[in-house]
Amino acid sequence: ALSKHFPLGGKNFFGRRHGAVLRAVDEVSLRIMPGETLGLVGESGCGKSTLGRLLLRLIEPTDGNLIFNGAEITRLKGAALREVRRSMQIVFQDPYGALNPRMAVEDIIAEPLIIHGARQGPGTRKQVASMLDRVGLPARALDRFPHEFSGGQRQRIGIARALILSPRFVVCDEAVSALDVSVQAQIVNLLQDLQREMGLTYLFIAHDLSVVRHISDRVAVMYLGKVVEVAQKHAIYAAPLHPYTQALIAAVPASHPADRSRGKRVRIAGDIPSAFNPPSGCRFHTRCPYVMPVCREVVPPLVEPVPGHHVACHLIDASPAGAPT
Ligand code: SF4
Ligand code: MG
Repeated sequence: ALSKHFPLGGKNFFGRRHGAVLRAVDEVSLRIMPGETLGLVGESGCGKSTLGRLLLRLIEPTDGNLIFNGAEITRLKGAALREVRRSMQIVFQDPYGALNPRMAVEDIIAEPLIIHGARQGPGTRKQVASMLDRVGLPARALDRFPHEFSGGQRQRIGIARALILSPRFVVCDEAVSALDVSVQAQIVNLLQDLQREMGLTYLFIAHDLSVVRHISDRVAVMYLGKVVEVAQKHAIYAAPLHPYTQALIAAVPASHPADRSRGKRVRIAGDIPSAFNPPSGCRFHTRCPYVMPVCREVVPPLVEPVPGHHVACHLIDASPAGAPT
């Protein structure tokens, strides 16, 4: 189980540390299968991005272990860590912010190759041109600069940069959230094509359940640093077990009027509580319409009431398979 706690504030007037600790990710256990897309959903600030960065070893966990391709990578350093990093890449939400405006597209996409020891020249230019082609951009883009492209095209450049090292695992952190809906669909389709062609595994992070629906095989729902439900996509959308997931699904605008009357309507009351001082017991208890006394006292464990469907809620009987992911 991975945790990431950020201690805050440093020393106070008397030289003692402030007690504030941001529990961005708290004992999260996740398994991502080779070749699958795991959607990771939750309101902003729930720890999704922190979890994505933990998995990539871009930040260090407070405790817990990371297994990648069967190998423990939690404490790798130096050359061994660099080698693993080749295989794990990230696509960011804001391609414009993530791309250096003073670098030509060729240099932006070639940079990971150079960092990993390639010598820039005709060979890397050819490799970059072929990557551009795979993401649907013409070779003449090589000598242009990021500002000359639209948001969707810039995201294609970001994807080309992430994939130039032929990684196995890619975290897409709100990779389409800033784009118009029609462009979102194009980028999602592109990511799916590339997944098939290159054998990629994705963690696809979004705050919106409608965005991950098309691309995910399974979906994990996070609330205040905890994963509260994980299941196959159809189970998450058709038979969500956690009251928070039910509320998120009710919040997705239905595309057909017929859908609007279907399903449970659960309103989430109140604002998301602070991760600095998360509620006791079940963290969702301050907003849950089904809250019971036990919910304020006891943290509900992640259980598996239906094979492959994991949920952490006292309403759900733990019995059948009861093992956490
Ligand atoms: Fe609601 Fe209790 Fe379940 Fe938490 S454990 S989601 S408060 S019913
Ligand atoms: Mg984020």
